[in-house]
Amino acid sequence: MTLDFHSALLTKKQYLLSELQTRGLRLLDETAGAASRRGGAGPTDHKAVTVLGTTIMAPVHTRGAKDSAYVATQPDARGVSKLMEGAEVVCEISFPPQPQFYALQTLDGIPYWKIAQLHSRDTLATTVLQTCIRYGNAATKCQFCAIGESLKAGRTIARKTPEQLAEVAAAAQRLDGVRNVVMTTGTPPTPDRGATVLAECAVAIKRATGLPIQGQCEPPVDFAAFAQMRDAGIDALGMHLEAWDEEVRARIMPGKAEVPRTFYLEAFAAAVAVFGRGQVSTYLLAGLGDTIESLHEAARVLIDLGVYPFIVPFVPVTGTPLAGRPPPGADFMRAVLAPVGEWLAAAGMTSDTVKAGCVKCAACTSLSSFEQRQPAL
Ligand code: SF4
Repeated sequence: MTLDFHSALLTKKQYLLSELQTRGLRLLDETAGAASRRGGAGPTDHKAVTVLGTTIMAPVHTRGAKDSAYVATQPDARGVSKLMEGAEVVCEISFPPQPQFYALQTLDGIPYWKIAQLHSRDTLATTVLQTCIRYGNAATKCQFCAIGESLKAGRTIARKTPEQLAEVAAAAQRLDGVRNVVMTTGTPPTPDRGATVLAECAVAIKRATGLPIQGQCEPPVDFAAFAQMRDAGIDALGMHLEAWDEEVRARIMPGKAEVPRTFYLEAFAAAVAVFGRGQVSTYLLAGLGDTIESLHEAARVLIDLGVYPFIVPFVPVTGTPLAGRPPPGADFMRAVLAPVGEWLAAAGMTSDTVKAGCVKCAACTSLSSFEQRQPAL
């Protein structure tokens, strides 16, 4: 493994996780581990892989992954593969197995895997409403999003009921040791932006499992929705800016950008007052156009507010307008993430203090690996 000047102070783990998440992983055996979903919301075109003790979602079906220098050999009888870079063996890696709850179905015949998916090792994730007011129109849809694709392909259902989610969550907890739940939603045409639907589902999941839950939606018009979500059993909240620079937001997600950043900041402050510091987070997709400086400004403002900036490398997803856009370079990601990890640690807002959701799971970015100072390579 060759290390450049910027990465000289990184640990092997920090280096490798950021390499794999930006360059992708080529699989010699595509059936290794749990089935990966192509297209759709969340970490699509990815597979969960455990590297040096940390499980991440690595792109495996993207264009970049097919040309990646990193190759996983066929797993042996223990499910362990070798991670190769050219002729060099980098380390051993493994793939979490297919969850057992995927084999079950509801009484009316809907497979559980169409209702919720296992992300990483122990996070159950669902998109409660698989439709979005912004998606059907090229003038408003987010250019990176594929929420309608998995629905079109019959890999999920349009709306998951509280009863279905409670049933699947209980099975995933019992059979696969799931420890927290993420519920996201496409944006409905209502001023609550989906908060009520999330709250109804949270009541049912909490009653059935007691698991910690993160809800994710656009900022509701009335911030009273935050207390309603918390009272329903939602422990952490995500409201996703996706990009910081208003020009980037308007270009990449013209519909969502009609809600200005200033409104998000007001919503963050109100949500932190309800859920607590660090329990509110926002996705920022690095690689959409924000500079390193812009993402650092975002992180400073957000951490000051008590919001965790979940900075994730943008991954071009098949079937979206941005499918051909290259992902950010690994050096860019490391330059962004290294200081942010230190700021989060200094603020006491590390991923392990979060109750549920993407920040807790931490598989879509190597940011949490930068929260601790580790001995350099
Ligand atoms: S970080 Fe979020 S989107 Fe990524 S794997 Fe974990 S729960 Fe899923």
